[in-house]
Amino acid sequence: MAADLLTMGVDVGSTASKCVILKNGAEIVSSASVGSGTGTSGPGRAVAAALEAAGVERAELARVTATGYGRNSFEDADDTVSELSCHAIGAHALFPEARTVLDIGGQDAKALSLDANGRLQNFVMNDKCAAGTGRFLDVMARVLEKDVSELASLDALAETAIPISSTCTVFAESEVISQLARRADLNALVRGIHDSVAVRAASLVRRLGLKEPLVMTGGVARNAGVVRALSEELGVAVLVSPLCQLNGAYGAAIHAWKKVRE
Ligand code: ADP
Repeated sequence: MAADLLTMGVDVGSTASKCVILKNGAEIVSSASVGSGTGTSGPGRAVAAALEAAGVERAELARVTATGYGRNSFEDADDTVSELSCHAIGAHALFPEARTVLDIGGQDAKALSLDANGRLQNFVMNDKCAAGTGRFLDVMARVLEKDVSELASLDALAETAIPISSTCTVFAESEVISQLARRADLNALVRGIHDSVAVRAASLVRRLGLKEPLVMTGGVARNAGVVRALSEELGVAVLVSPLCQLNGAYGAAIHAWKKVRE
């Protein structure tokens, strides 16, 4: 019997570093996510944590592929692949029927269309503006003195939404501050913030052309409030895996495995 083949994918993001170690291209042996991205110690720490959790040394890995915004600054990879390709590969592996993938990270949002075999056909991207990205939510969470991980449960308690009229993050932040000064309901405010992100994300998906099923990936997909809002805005189900934030790293590890097999 052939020995197990271990490959690693490292997603050096703008905001977070993610790492997945895969056995034989299919089974996740370990993963790690660190809340600091390119240009920090985050990528190295994510790799070290994933290696330790798997109980293996770097030398035991057959191949390492880096992806993400900061992939070219990561020196310990055998190759680099764009996030677009890795999100397509990862989403297709998690949801083979996926035809549209919306990836919202810390600094940008991308919508990808896939053919029936999971091949990337087309994409559109917002990397010019913080609105509609994780950054917008991070800024709002700070103003509300909450962690981003708490926003979804506040959204779930909301009975109504307080709409955010500014599209610009800086103006929207002032708007939220003035709502807080007026003692606005926190849950309704959070719901309005999520709706605002969903409106931006939905327009990106519409620009691409929505084909169902729609899968959401990236760290923002961990926020069930944004997923709810997006589903309502587009009027379709939004599929999310618990691995959503690791999806790029997962796709990179699958890519590395395919390269070894070649
Ligand atoms: P990048 O790849 O650009 O670094 P990620 O896909 O890792 O970005 O997403 C980072 C974003 O994910 C953060 O800006 C934050 O808003 C969101 N996020 C991270 N962790 C959580 C969490 N536990 N709950 C909700 N949102 C989260």
